[in-house]
Amino acid sequence: MRGISLALTAPVAYPMLPSLMKAELISIGTELLLGEILDTNAQYLAARLPPLGIDLYYVSKVGDNLERLTEVIERAWRRSDLAITTGGLGPTEDDLTREAIARVLGEELSVDPGMEEQLRAFFSRRGVAMPERNVKQATLIPSARALPTPRGPAPGWWVEREGRVIVALPGPPVEMEYMWEQQVAPELERRLAGRRTVLVARVLKTVGLGEGHVDELVSPLLKSTNPTIGVYARADGVQLRIAAKAPTKEEAWRLIEPVEAEVRRLLGDIVWGADDDTLEGAVGGLLRQHGLTLATMESCTGGLLANVITNVPGSSTYFRGGLVAYATEMKIDWGVDPEIIARHGVISAECARDMARAVRERLRADIGIGITGVAGPDPQEEKPPGTIHIGLDAGFTEPQSVSYQFAQGREAVKRRAVTTALALLRRTILDWQGRPAG
Ligand code: AMP
Ligand code: MG
Repeated sequence: MRGISLALTAPVAYPMLPSLMKAELISIGTELLLGEILDTNAQYLAARLPPLGIDLYYVSKVGDNLERLTEVIERAWRRSDLAITTGGLGPTEDDLTREAIARVLGEELSVDPGMEEQLRAFFSRRGVAMPERNVKQATLIPSARALPTPRGPAPGWWVEREGRVIVALPGPPVEMEYMWEQQVAPELERRLAGRRTVLVARVLKTVGLGEGHVDELVSPLLKSTNPTIGVYARADGVQLRIAAKAPTKEEAWRLIEPVEAEVRRLLGDIVWGADDDTLEGAVGGLLRQHGLTLATMESCTGGLLANVITNVPGSSTYFRGGLVAYATEMKIDWGVDPEIIARHGVISAECARDMARAVRERLRADIGIGITGVAGPDPQEEKPPGTIHIGLDAGFTEPQSVSYQFAQGREAVKRRAVTTALALLRRTILDWQGRPAG
């Protein structure tokens, strides 16, 4: 391990923390307000507080300005038991988190000699002299202790007074996440142990039915308060969140289990996965399970379907390959029947089905998928933007196709088309598999 890895200040026997902690997050940096970078730190931390039994009430973003930063931290100090800041711990003039915390607590900043030594050592290991501005990264206030980091020069701060805590973490996500995992989460876990309520959740993912329909199917369960059930639409289908609170994770999971089983029973095979599962992973699993191979011919999605399919490790066992046949001539060169195109146009369900057939034959696969349509924003062949036709051709079943009219922008239309193609593929395999043999 390189960098500063020793505990910098002697461990103190801290008291237990309040059992019902109200937390807030403060993301610091003008670049966040300008929309230049996305606040992924807040997203990361927000997902990790409920399993610790900590309720998150507020998330704020504030620029690199001492007055406003002080104001936001002051408010957090008044209303929350735990405030976690990220960013503003760098050496530059506009990194002001330490100064603002010192102001809010009315405490004096001073250089900690041990920390300064570590910091200088960090630079000399890299063969450079430490710029003098970095000295401020070795400062503390009486209520703060350093959270050392092996991932960068900036230690974080654990500030504690009157039973309330401010944790200041660095802005760069790798440093922030490491410090959270190695130091902050274990400390919170230890000091809340046995006296907290954890929240855990199972997310079930579905495709094929709309939000209202899914909600209706599970309506007998929606009144439940522990676990609670929430239904929400996502880009790749409708998801259902079953969340339970209990003193331990194990007890919370025991509350979720029977409800999950009931939800699965009510929804049947529209559920394709849970938690971190992806639709392409689920479909890949089905192809593999049945020893089926796949090939794709894409027009308006420009290879996005092939890209998504190959995001799954091991997809080479079932994915033969994909052709991007953008120009009409190329579709014909690769085997699409020119008569079908002449009769129905390239933006048609017939063309999509023939693309599927052609690529299945050409790439010697069990299943072919063809996608054609108008990604937008301009119409094509007098078809409105967002028109999508997806064809599927397989030896074991009739040629299939679905047609949609999506209303979003170009990239969203492409993504929706890919999700829809995967859903069609999944449905086709499931229906075939469900058919009585013979
Ligand atoms: P700072 O510690 O404020 O100098 O932040 C250093 C770098 O960390 C920034 O330039 C960003 O690239 C990154 N960063 C800071 N805050 C965040 C955040 N909330 N989410 C994601 N990245 C961040
Ligand atoms: Mg900054």
